[in-house]
Amino acid sequence: MSNSLNRRNWIKSSAVMAGGLALLSGTAEKLVAAPAAKKLTVLPEEAFLSEAQVAAQNVPDMKARLNANENPFGPSPAAKKAIEDALADSFRYPFESLSVLSNKIADHEGVTSRNILLSSGTSPLLLAAAMHYSKDGKSVISGETSYDDLPSKSPRFGGTWIKVPMTADFKLDLDAMEAKVDDKTGLVYICNPNNPTATVVDVNKLKGFCERVSKKTTVMVDEAYIDYLPNPDQVTMMGAVKAGQNVIVARTFSKLYGFAGLRCGYFVAQPDTIRALSAYTSQGMAISATTAAAAVAAYQETAFLQDALKKTLESKEFLYATLKKEGYDYIPSSANFVLFPIKMDGRQFSTEMSKRGVGIRTWKMNDKDYCRVSIGRMDEMQAFADAFKQIS
Ligand code: PLP
Repeated sequence: MSNSLNRRNWIKSSAVMAGGLALLSGTAEKLVAAPAAKKLTVLPEEAFLSEAQVAAQNVPDMKARLNANENPFGPSPAAKKAIEDALADSFRYPFESLSVLSNKIADHEGVTSRNILLSSGTSPLLLAAAMHYSKDGKSVISGETSYDDLPSKSPRFGGTWIKVPMTADFKLDLDAMEAKVDDKTGLVYICNPNNPTATVVDVNKLKGFCERVSKKTTVMVDEAYIDYLPNPDQVTMMGAVKAGQNVIVARTFSKLYGFAGLRCGYFVAQPDTIRALSAYTSQGMAISATTAAAAVAAYQETAFLQDALKKTLESKEFLYATLKKEGYDYIPSSANFVLFPIKMDGRQFSTEMSKRGVGIRTWKMNDKDYCRVSIGRMDEMQAFADAFKQIS
């Protein structure tokens, strides 16, 4: 399993942004390398943003953007209204709004605001954790293949990234991960549901894992996609934090709440952990007053969230049927994306889909190519099906 999953590699690893990259002759690497392109004024390691900007400039006709696990059904009307209402006072710093949001989240999760660290999405918090837990040559343990935004950054800060292969059914191998913990371990990163496989680990097993492993090192459970499960309250590891364990739960509004562009996320952990990690952040000041107001309002619209969930499940069933009809297997999904093995080179598959106006992502795992397709609106899933039938 070799392909890595992070935002920098996003566009490098696939022609994600529909016609955009296809129009640009050659790969994103070429773009980064070519001074003639002139649009890129940053270093290659900062390439993600620029590539995205370049792609965005060049993709007027994308039919289905199914490459970033976004939720096209959000944000809710109440969240949009809250943004409008908050605009008039948006010349002020968001101190009060952040305090309201922090208290609201604490209420919602059944903890105190001393257990909460806010930021503009979880990404800046994952970076903070990469910095903190990699200090002094410590290691970060993660599954392979899993969301690697945090662990892949560990070496930048002097740490080591230890990758532990998944089980044969594409789940994180908790036993094998536990066996890797030693006195050099800074953090164990568990993504549940896991990205890109959309699998979940057994909840009791994870509870036992958290209890034992958190006595030796810090455990992070990234629950970005937990709201897509039928029983998130039973699967969350929030209880481990409440029980005083050295566990960090990462949550984002980017998925079921539809806030990927608004940017709001948080960690829930012991107050000491929050204090230590907050030193690497702007303590919530990265969140605008408008986003804070929208997040507070979004919590109140449970019927809207249920509807988004229902539409996601309908689109997912349609995708499953499409794949079955074309003779493809897939990994049953517990999130808003599906991973399935393809019969073509990943890069070529991405390019062909992209030419047809459909953005997806591909991975190589155990020398096999896989496609990850995000669940979108029904018209987007139809666009995926039309393109897929032509090349499958
Ligand atoms: N965690 C996981 C597992 C993700 O898949 C993502 C984004 O796709 C994130 C965290 C980051 O989300 P955000 O920064 O939008 O909150």
